[in-house]
Amino acid sequence: MLNVDFSWALGVLMLAVTAAAAAAFLSLRKGRGKSGLSLDARHVWLCAICTHIYINTKDDKISVCPRCGSYNSRDSAARRPEKS
Ligand SMILES: [Zn+2]
Repeated sequence: MLNVDFSWALGVLMLAVTAAAAAAFLSLRKGRGKSGLSLDARHVWLCAICTHIYINTKDDKISVCPRCGSYNSRDSAARRPEKS
């Protein structure tokens, strides 16, 4: 009887671990967007001055364009805020 209960508990635990791993995997895939690379759309910046597209992986509100050195804010960048 105890053995059955233990197996059942182990099965529930394995199910929970598998579900958690699946949820983490799905959320990770969702955050990566369309490209297969580990590139988040939030990190892609379009310079409003010289239209240079560059990557800034820091979650800053303001980013400096590496080409012309101008400051770009999140609002002025040509990116739609993704609410979902
Ligand atoms: Zn620029």
